[in-house]
Amino acid sequence: MNRTWQEYKEGFGDVKGDHWLGLDFPLPLSQIKSFEKKNDISVNVFGLDNNEIFPLQITDHRSGHHVNLLLFSKGETRHYCLIRNLSRLLGDRTLHDGETYYCNYCLHGFCRQDLLDDHVPFCSPNGPQKLSFPKSEEQKWIEFKHINKQLRVPFVIYADFECFTSPVESSAPNSSCTKAYQKHEPSGFCYYVKCSSNELSKPAYVYRGSNTLDHFFERLIQEEKHICEVLDNVKPMSLSAEEEMVFQKSTKCHICDGELGADPCTGS
Ligand SMILES: [Zn+2]
Ligand SMILES: [Zn+2]
Repeated sequence: MNRTWQEYKEGFGDVKGDHWLGLDFPLPLSQIKSFEKKNDISVNVFGLDNNEIFPLQITDHRSGHHVNLLLFSKGETRHYCLIRNLSRLLGDRTLHDGETYYCNYCLHGFCRQDLLDDHVPFCSPNGPQKLSFPKSEEQKWIEFKHINKQLRVPFVIYADFECFTSPVESSAPNSSCTKAYQKHEPSGFCYYVKCSSNELSKPAYVYRGSNTLDHFFERLIQEEKHICEVLDNVKPMSLSAEEEMVFQKSTKCHICDGELGADPCTGS
């Protein structure tokens, strides 16, 4: 297909013709990929919000025929407009007056092509993004809040299975990329219960024999019962005189380092 920019700009063919077969008109963003395939063209679509341009849909495969479109929408009404020069459209966003190379995914401008080339592999996996910057002093700072997730869990169970493998004929349909060639029959397992307090850790349990899976789950349920009993039985802290003194004198939480009194860990 060989079309001039003018033809793309002014539109071509019949909207009921092949270019649009199976597609709605005006084209929803969800159908852009199908439109690209049918017409051997790559399309990027940008949106406009409060005079700010942001990427809406960026093509996976840039083709020789590429167009950048600006999508105007008001309520249910949508209208595409051809962007002839993206750099010029974005040009007044910075004070830089030389040529600028824009990342299509985040619209960040670079002064050199090689800087943009270094950036794109890291940016493209995130897809099109609309950047917004903090508007108030409080929004300027973010901090880690899930202090509880830094705490060690009291019990961990490490388990490993052994299997016998036997060859099988694949019955998967041809369209599947997965080819089954072996069946794994569990033959045994080993697991180890590790507690943050060593005296409650247990020696590894090893099993070889029939009904391996059933036996494994029976054992796990027993272990869970035992762990719950240990956790329910809260023992008083036993502190040495020195530890007691440090505890009484402390003004900061030992977990989050916050001032005691308005501590997110204690909720007081
Ligand atoms: Zn980017
Ligand atoms: Zn705390």
